[in-house]
Amino acid sequence: MKMRSIPVLVAGGGASGMVAAIEAAKLGANVTVIEKKNKPGKKILATGNGRCNFTNRNQEISCYHSSDDTLVQMVLQRFDHQKVIDYFWESGVMSKERDGYYYPLSGQAASVRAMLEREMDRYKVEVHCDETLQRIIPRKDLSGQNITGYEVQTDRDKYLVRKLILAVGGSAAPAQGTTGDGYRMLQELGVAIVPPLPALTSIELDDACCKLWSGVRIMGQVELWCEGSRLAEDIGEIQMVAKGISGIPVFQISGRVSRLLYQGKEPYLKIDVMPDHTKEQVMEELLRRVNTYGVGRSLGDVLDGMLPDKLAKALLLALHKSPGDGAEILQEDRWRNDLADQIKGKKLHIRKVSDFDKAQVTTGGVALSELQADTLELIKYPGIYVTGELADVDGICGGYNLQWAWSSGHLAGQSAACALKTKIRSRS
Ligand SMILES: Cc1cc2nc3c(=O)[nH]c(=O)nc-3n(C[C@H](O)[C@H](O)[C@H](O)COP(=O)(O)OP(=O)(O)OC[C@H]3O[C@@H](n4cnc5c(N)ncnc54)[C@H](O)[C@@H]3O)c2cc1C
Repeated sequence: MKMRSIPVLVAGGGASGMVAAIEAAKLGANVTVIEKKNKPGKKILATGNGRCNFTNRNQEISCYHSSDDTLVQMVLQRFDHQKVIDYFWESGVMSKERDGYYYPLSGQAASVRAMLEREMDRYKVEVHCDETLQRIIPRKDLSGQNITGYEVQTDRDKYLVRKLILAVGGSAAPAQGTTGDGYRMLQELGVAIVPPLPALTSIELDDACCKLWSGVRIMGQVELWCEGSRLAEDIGEIQMVAKGISGIPVFQISGRVSRLLYQGKEPYLKIDVMPDHTKEQVMEELLRRVNTYGVGRSLGDVLDGMLPDKLAKALLLALHKSPGDGAEILQEDRWRNDLADQIKGKKLHIRKVSDFDKAQVTTGGVALSELQADTLELIKYPGIYVTGELADVDGICGGYNLQWAWSSGHLAGQSAACALKTKIRSRS
């Protein structure tokens, strides 16, 4: 049976794949998208808690993690956050901003997904849902030296493809269709992959206190330490859960923890649950409480109104004390000092970073040294482009991962269409 020939095939109809398809089609290319799930862009619906934080005004390069800041910056600048906002507006999605974070004015992630689907329709992109890319086989010319295209095998068909945009995402949130397929297929072709690890997720701890504090939410600071050095810190609402800790400040450092654990290191965390007070102020406050109304009362009574009950119980555990014990010990410097140490910098031993099913993104992926910086084309495989989370680029929470998806999809889509046009022109 003769294989169908497709000029531009986009594998993966997620954030970057849809933008890539639209951009290639706008430049006149005949574009087909294959998407594993039953409709494109399903993950977008889950972003930003259903509100889709699609970009951020603050685009410092430190908000992204990769092995090549220059490449990432080049790609981001070509289709930067302001261009994304304008692009969305032109296509019908007005935006609202809060502290630099951008969301659709409708407050609905569904508006972003629907807009991208509408644009694909407007530019006559053919979309095949429930179809999974499985294998890529390079086709060579008679000399056996030059790649002329790719045979692409899916679970439904085989195609001859001139330009293949790989937008299949990473391994995070596998229920959304992203099961690391791209890494496997590219590894088979000898493309270097930086080990994919979970990021933007919770951290499981080796500490008996977790069972006691489950359900507590508190503003605090999380610090990441390794080999005696403080590597990172973040402040925000910490969520204490039965297996460990979660919340935005934990998410922000989780990718780094994943990488350190992968390297065989032993990182640990310190949490400060009263970040607006110095240790001295905490000690003074403990003394004031015990002296004013604490004698003859319990530690729980003295800590009430200062810390959530469950958290107080968890912190006292490290001192082998419980909330029912007498508060008089706090009249001694030693006990006040030890309790203030728990409040201002409790050390937490990490068991693991939560698995991919709980992670929002993947850190790691296609090594950036494999890519042409100005097109995102694979150097070893001309005609294959890599976008979004599949590449070794990840951002912190705040709209950065989608910004990378939009920027990389935009560049790859335009590059693929331009390369096709150049080839057609050079043949005629
Ligand atoms: C719960 C959650 C909340 C998030 N919130 C935000 C947020 O508010 N802001 C932000 O910036 N980022 C957020 N992210 C991250 C962001 O969604 C991703 O980084 C981004 O979607 C990646 O875009 P992508 O195009 O690379 O991949 P995806 O959007 O993951 O798309 C990949 C697509 O490829 C399809 N696919 C996979 N394998 C195959 C195959 N073999 N054949 C065919 N199709 C395939 C998948 O079904 C999927 O549709 C969130 C992620 C999650 C999970």
